[in-house]
Amino acid sequence: MLIGVLPVEGAAAADIDALEAFVARHYACATRRLPPLAMPPDAYDEHRSQHDATTLLKAALAVRTADLDRLLVVTDRDIFIPMLTFIFGQAQVDGPAALLSLARLRQEFYGMPARHELMLERARKEIVHELGHTFGLVHCADKQCAMALSINVTNIDIKRDALCGACARNLADRLEAMAG
Ligand SMILES: [Zn+2]
Ligand SMILES: [Zn+2]
Repeated sequence: MLIGVLPVEGAAAADIDALEAFVARHYACATRRLPPLAMPPDAYDEHRSQHDATTLLKAALAVRTADLDRLLVVTDRDIFIPMLTFIFGQAQVDGPAALLSLARLRQEFYGMPARHELMLERARKEIVHELGHTFGLVHCADKQCAMALSINVTNIDIKRDALCGACARNLADRLEAMAG
């Protein structure tokens, strides 16, 4: 399996390095770093001062090559979909790409002192969550499972950067099926 990692311009290279290393370790797979993607100008919504996740994902999918089994897109910008005030990330179930925003994983966003390690820890959990969706996993009722739905950082902080037993078995089956 090969997972592409696509930073959106503005994301710190060191953070992307750390998250890419986590992905390689977590899935025991190869990764490929793509050159940073320019944020599509039409993704910005002036009224919301946020970027449209759907427009960004579409631009990301346009640079995806067929040899990538999955694509992880990471942005530093705050993102939304029309029906929600904001989202931490987005992915379609069984879809080719997962999107993660680091913006609201930072303590500074909530007026608190920066905690870089905590931001990366939250990012790891949300990566397991969003990539989990791309592998066909749905939300889990176990609040500590990475597939639990998070609507705020408190929810994320309760979770582990790993799946519960049931979700892990589900993922293993799906990865096995993918490998053919
Ligand atoms: Zn989800
Ligand atoms: Zn679970």
